[in-house]
Amino acid sequence: MRGSLQKRLVEKLKNEGYIRSERIERAMLEIDRSIFVPEKYLHKAYDDIPLPVGYGQTISAPSIVAYMTELLQPAEGSRVLEVGTGSGYQTAIIAYLVKEQGHVWSIERVRELSDMAREKLKEVNLLQYVTLIVGDGSIGYKEGQPYDRIIITAACPKIPSFVKEQLKEGGIAVLPVGGKYEQRLAIVHKQRDHELNIKYDISVLFVPLVGVEGFEVN
Ligand code: SAH
Repeated sequence: MRGSLQKRLVEKLKNEGYIRSERIERAMLEIDRSIFVPEKYLHKAYDDIPLPVGYGQTISAPSIVAYMTELLQPAEGSRVLEVGTGSGYQTAIIAYLVKEQGHVWSIERVRELSDMAREKLKEVNLLQYVTLIVGDGSIGYKEGQPYDRIIITAACPKIPSFVKEQLKEGGIAVLPVGGKYEQRLAIVHKQRDHELNIKYDISVLFVPLVGVEGFEVN
């Protein structure tokens, strides 16, 4: 049952251009999204839609997870910072791609979500490649820097200043930038002169990044 529905979803994401590489196709086939979806929404686990995970937060649509991963290009051995662990699904996809030499640091402000993600990552045998942190990721996470890749899965009003500081030279960051109701995916390259080269891609809708360099909590 799971196998065929998930295969169909991955085929669809390939046809629509969200999945472009074999590596990411394999990761999307290997990691079962239903593990990261609350029981209440299991019947929608293989639909290409975001779903509530509690605490006002959502698990992103699989097309967005696949597409952001394609833009991020996590290599085997990459050191990756993720801001906004949420369900842990995107974390799992990245961890699958960077293991064994790589590592993912993933920061989440809601402790309950981080704890749930820990259980799920254990279930898919990827927890050993991930450090989960509870805290404000709008200032990044200094302990793991410099990072080859930074992914932010919450909407940023602007590119947070930590991206430039904590990204390695030649590194890539992918994040949604814009207002509360619409953002564009920004693809950021840190050049040799340490300046950021920024390109904007598709429109997306993420929950807001809150904290000192994000939106205010209200
Ligand atoms: N990639 C996740 C989507 C997470 S939604 C998934 O597919 O499941 C965005 C998450 O960012 C939410 O869980 C929210 O609590 C978290 N978040 C918002 N602001 C944050 C901040 N300043 N630091 C850490 N996490 C934050």
